[in-house]
Amino acid sequence: MAGKKFDYAPAPESRGIVDLQPAYGLFIGGEFVDPLDGRAFKTVSPATEEVLAEISEAGPRDVDRAVVAARRAYERVWSKLPARERGKYLFRIARILQERARELAVLESLDNGKPIRESRDVDIPLVAAWFFHYAGWADKLEYAGVSTASSGPPKPLGVAGQIIPWNFPLLMLAWKIAPALACGNTVVLKPAETTSLTALLFAEICQQADLPPGVVNIVTGAGETGSALVEHPGVDKIAFTGSTEVGKMIARSTAGTGKKVTLELGGKAANIVFDDAPVDQAVEGIVNGIFFNQGHVCCAGSRLLVQESAYDEVLTSLKRRLGTLRLGDPLDKNTDIGAINSPEQLGRIRELSDVGESEGAARWSPPCELPDKGFWFPPTIFTGVSQAHRIAREEIFGPVLSVLTFRTPAEAVEKANNTPYGLSAGVWTDKGSRILWMAGQLRAGVVWANTFNRFDPASPFGGYKESGFGREGGRHGLEAYLDV
Ligand code: NAP
Ligand code: MG
Repeated sequence: MAGKKFDYAPAPESRGIVDLQPAYGLFIGGEFVDPLDGRAFKTVSPATEEVLAEISEAGPRDVDRAVVAARRAYERVWSKLPARERGKYLFRIARILQERARELAVLESLDNGKPIRESRDVDIPLVAAWFFHYAGWADKLEYAGVSTASSGPPKPLGVAGQIIPWNFPLLMLAWKIAPALACGNTVVLKPAETTSLTALLFAEICQQADLPPGVVNIVTGAGETGSALVEHPGVDKIAFTGSTEVGKMIARSTAGTGKKVTLELGGKAANIVFDDAPVDQAVEGIVNGIFFNQGHVCCAGSRLLVQESAYDEVLTSLKRRLGTLRLGDPLDKNTDIGAINSPEQLGRIRELSDVGESEGAARWSPPCELPDKGFWFPPTIFTGVSQAHRIAREEIFGPVLSVLTFRTPAEAVEKANNTPYGLSAGVWTDKGSRILWMAGQLRAGVVWANTFNRFDPASPFGGYKESGFGREGGRHGLEAYLDV
């Protein structure tokens, strides 16, 4: 019985609901326009390598057009609107997002490779929730608890340049755009090169909502487009989510320019299981912590710390559970593990996993057939990992779990905090007092207790140390877009 999978008939979600165009322009000043130097690149489905569409590549002159459009919209319209009118637009966008949820979920799974179960049940509902949450804040900014020089409601910053990654394409867009607009800013957003499609569908939703032209601009392209946005003198604020490496470059290039910056970078979270934790629940939490979204999650529980006395039981149960995970077609409703987003990311995961093996850790994956086409990596765990191993220190950003052990709570804290990152952590125990003690000791922006990877628009999210600075979400997330 152990590890036996039920045979399910294929249950693919129809992609008929998505109206893919062969080519997409840039969204500037409320319209889709061609890029000035006519460059384009292809976006593929990582599960099949099928070309989905051509995406325009914005050059510096296109970025400039977008910033000019955003400035004009800011000065002439958006900053002049009564706050509750801004709120109405955000509510309208939130409702359209809900109405078009299935279409958005299918498109996200096609372009990103994540299972439809996750895009349908997690990503898109959270996207709508983020817009509803910040819609409510638009006319209540004076109660946000931020201090400003003048009296009255706090003032926006102006034009925000926003750069997002490929792991939660539409959700990261929501985390960036919803608070910026609620506070009265206008935006120029650059999605990740491999996952632009839902941002472009969002642009259509802005048109459908009659959002004033120029309030939201979407410039697609590669890292150079992002860098042109960061360096544009007309941008008042840069919000970035992505790698620590690019985050550091942004911090350097914006230093001394007066631009306000928030960075949400990587993580190497500890998921800590004590021997009094209910094992079945903890195992579900471990699986959700590292195999959700193929492990492409900045706050993934990529380091499992198990109390020695529970090690055998937890590992046996975890391996049995991994044997039941289904890897395959992201559009199939029974799929647990989808495709890796790009060949580059697959290369990074393979490289670090090979390093894990050569450093002496033991690698294990359940029997798992990988499709011939597309980019795939089986769910993998490494045991016998020591703190010095690279797989215990560096972010792999894939479905790879490093397992370490500890004896006492103090040792768990020491090991958990022994990382250059500090984004999140998880604690599994039956004792409430221990949860509170651990939460006070862990240097992590978010600490989950007896759960993992839970998000709520009312709850601030962000990191310590190399995980970045600034908070997104909730009342605290407003501060990043206000002149405080
Ligand atoms: P990345 O290069 O930092 O990409 C994030 C965003 O920044 C993308 O839109 C990217 O464009 C853009 N970008 C790239 N170079 C830039 C530059 N010089 N100036 C301005 N923007 C720039 O991250 P990645 O290459 O996709 O992933 C690399 C690693 O970053 C992953 O293995 C993972 O460890 C980490 N990561 C973390 C998160 C997170 O949520 N914290 C998310 C993604 C990745 P392109 O898409 O065209 O490159
Ligand atoms: Mg793609």
